[in-house]
Amino acid sequence: MGEPRPAAFLDRDGVLIEDDGYPHDPALVRWVPGAAAAVALLRRAGYWVFVVTNQSGVARGLYPEAAVAALHGWMNQHLAGGVDAFEYCPHHPDAPLAAYRQDCACRKPRPGMILALLQRFPVRRQGSFLVGDRASDLAAATAAGLPGHLFPGGRLDAFIAPLVEAAG
Ligand SMILES: [Mg+2]
Repeated sequence: MGEPRPAAFLDRDGVLIEDDGYPHDPALVRWVPGAAAAVALLRRAGYWVFVVTNQSGVARGLYPEAAVAALHGWMNQHLAGGVDAFEYCPHHPDAPLAAYRQDCACRKPRPGMILALLQRFPVRRQGSFLVGDRASDLAAATAAGLPGHLFPGGRLDAFIAPLVEAAG
């Protein structure tokens, strides 16, 4: 996979797509403005692009893991294949579905998803960052030793552009 490159770890709901409450149906997804442009500018800057998303809707029985995978495939078509990996956590410690009821290491604010990606891909920590819309996202970044940035809404590409430039 070549020389290590910096990575952008993006939360999904509330960052790439609007968080309407356990989004899982492509027909109902609303893109955050500038989402595709943000991914495109990260690619042009040579970044890995990773999505790290808690999907406790699986543990709650709202939708199966197959729906998560289908949505991610659909999203990556829209994003011109720009996402290198979608990492999701289907667990919840109080899940009604026993198969997913666990106090796992991957559910944010824990850093398991980020650490797994750092093991799988040649990531250069210098310049890498996370963008999320909740404190638990930023806590996961901190626990993984990466800077986290709280996305307040608006255009995602405008929010991310200065982070990339700052990374050089
Ligand atoms: Mg979110």
